[in-house]
Amino acid sequence: MAEQRIQGIGVSEGIRIAKAFVLASETRPDAVRETVSAAETEAELARLGQAKARSEAELTELAEQAKRTLGEKQAGILAGQARMLSDPAYFPQIEKRIREERFAAEYAVRSVTEHFAGRFEAMDNEYMRERAADIRDLGRRLLAHLRGEERTSLAGLREEVIVVADDLAPSDTVQLDRRYVQALVTRMGGRTSHTSIIARSLGIAAVVGAGDAVRDIADGELLIVDGGEGLCIRRPDPETIEAYKLRQQRERDERSALERFRDRPAETKDGLRVELAANIGTVREAAEAAGQNADGIGLYRTEFLYMDADRLPDEDRQFAAYREVAERMAGRPVVIRTLDIGGDKALPYLELPKEENPFLGYRAIRIGLDRRELLRVQLRAIWRASRYGNVKIMFPMISGLDEWRQAKAISLEVRDELIREGVPVSGSVEIGMMVEIPSAALLAGSFAKEVDFFSIGTNDLVQYTLAVDRMNEKVAYLYDYFHPAVLHLIRHVIEAAHREGKWVGMCGGMAGDPLAAPLLVGLGLDEWSMEAGSIVKVKQALARLDSQDCRALANHLLALDTTAEVRRELGRYAELTR
Ligand code: PEP
Ligand code: MG
Repeated sequence: MAEQRIQGIGVSEGIRIAKAFVLASETRPDAVRETVSAAETEAELARLGQAKARSEAELTELAEQAKRTLGEKQAGILAGQARMLSDPAYFPQIEKRIREERFAAEYAVRSVTEHFAGRFEAMDNEYMRERAADIRDLGRRLLAHLRGEERTSLAGLREEVIVVADDLAPSDTVQLDRRYVQALVTRMGGRTSHTSIIARSLGIAAVVGAGDAVRDIADGELLIVDGGEGLCIRRPDPETIEAYKLRQQRERDERSALERFRDRPAETKDGLRVELAANIGTVREAAEAAGQNADGIGLYRTEFLYMDADRLPDEDRQFAAYREVAERMAGRPVVIRTLDIGGDKALPYLELPKEENPFLGYRAIRIGLDRRELLRVQLRAIWRASRYGNVKIMFPMISGLDEWRQAKAISLEVRDELIREGVPVSGSVEIGMMVEIPSAALLAGSFAKEVDFFSIGTNDLVQYTLAVDRMNEKVAYLYDYFHPAVLHLIRHVIEAAHREGKWVGMCGGMAGDPLAAPLLVGLGLDEWSMEAGSIVKVKQALARLDSQDCRALANHLLALDTTAEVRRELGRYAELTR
């Protein structure tokens, strides 16, 4: 049969050639009865009890395993499933159906699970909708035990494979072992789905949302996956295999060329040293950042700590996370940003009001200054962690000086309160702000007199300067940090800060783009913060640059009128310096 190309969404780069390992996500359909006789209900309840006990034990063990290998968040998913077994709206309902309606155990599990999952799916909150997948995952586990089935599991893999599935259940993702799992191909999912995020963070090539064609893939057949292009090729022709092997080799060569930069300092050809830091959202990512030799953490997005829980994380829990990151970075700077919730990020338990324009509404520091206790608890945790490393505090979404002054004053009040309580805090914590709203960029001269540092958040600065919603695909073609208006704001911020002797970082996506490197060197950016995986790429780009030339280039670029011209010139410069 001819070669077949299945197009999906490429969510994690990499070319891989290996055999398919089909992960059955559905257990076989019920061939069993729907109901049993009255005399049999006790036996059904007993079977159900056993399945529950086995599921609980299994989940607890998996959670332990995940905690060791993947960190708290993944372990939390499994522990959460184990807890669901005690939810009064779930397990007792299954027992009730057996007792009162004489359902067979399998049928009772299936119907209650679907009903329960359906309720979550109907909620208009993404976090809650995602819980539906956990409930179904748990239901499948119970069913498998009732039937005495061995679930196909990723745990026993001993050869390199490409995992093919409808989607990965949360309990599957915690078993992903990148030594054996070369790539993932799933029928469902999108760029931000759980599976995609995990694949990227583990460096496993992945194509998701590839549709029904995925269902035809048989266990053991040879596949080619191109995670960059979102392509999965079945029955590849010999020529196709050859072509992809060549591309794979090229990819490996590029990677090993990059590897050489891992242990080198981040500097230009003429020896200008800049600080390349990492953006993180979790403690686990701090380990990844340290592994990539990041000069520090330029942005710790603390919202994930809040989003991963089902209630506000208390002071101790936050303190433990901040302390761990500070210690892991061993004296290198760790910029902890206070909660930036709102916009596209929701916290179900905070019940934020639905808004017409959430990005222009109740978000980030605006919430912090309105719900002071929330901000105070977080600041207490940060100050307490400050003596375990080189911690800095950063406020998001500052639009005017009043906000900055209030936020800074609360921070100092909290510090003094801790000192009065006899809690040790560091005496050298810098306090700075994100520059991500044009008003803040324009007033950088005034802010610079009061802050210790700025970090430019281009993700938001672009959306607010150009009036382009960063989440809206329809206007995505307008969203570009090389827009001349954005460049002028960036230059203004850096110059204003330097006049006051303050340092400037950048933690938006632009910092991690090697194409932007000569411009940012030319503008005199001090600290660059990006996804840990981009650090070597930017180091490689820096090593080709001469800082004097970059200054001339920046002046030239800032005289251009359109985004296209800026991109063209930068493209040309990258070719010239290659
Ligand atoms: C930014 O806006 O550039 C930024 C880094 O913050 P976030 O992406 O978290 O809004
Ligand atoms: Mg932002």
